[in-house]
Amino acid sequence: MQTEIEKLLKSKDLSLTSVRLAVLEVLHHHPHSDADTIYQHVKKGIATTSKQAIYNNLSALVEKGILREIKPKGSSSLYETRVGDNHHHLICRECQSVMDVACKSQAPCLHVDEQHGFKIDEAEIVFWGTCPDCSSQPNNNKGVNA
Ligand SMILES: [Zn+2]
Ligand SMILES: [Zn+2]
Repeated sequence: MQTEIEKLLKSKDLSLTSVRLAVLEVLHHHPHSDADTIYQHVKKGIATTSKQAIYNNLSALVEKGILREIKPKGSSSLYETRVGDNHHHLICRECQSVMDVACKSQAPCLHVDEQHGFKIDEAEIVFWGTCPDCSSQPNNNKGVNA
């Protein structure tokens, strides 16, 4: 795991720092985490880290294509290590859980009728709905008191 990450960072001209490594490890185990969640995890191992350090590392890793950032409306950015496969996301409106869904074939969603001269390299698709856990809750009406 560590050597793989090391190689990956090196190929993108990023040095291997303990915070960077920890961020990637957290996301490996908890994909689709937001910066705050990542910070809480990293802090357990590296007490001296700051939230700013986490943000800086996340943006560097996203910029280099090592992490993918998704921005569901109404919530903070989520990060994941699964990059480059143009997969999509299912997000539950109730509990905000996120699931990966594979793109049907290579990347059909990149083909639009009118490209307006753009070279399109990514499509961001979010499917919103209710996850099985939430749909099976009996008291799932909006505004219901517990
Ligand atoms: Zn749910
Ligand atoms: Zn994903």
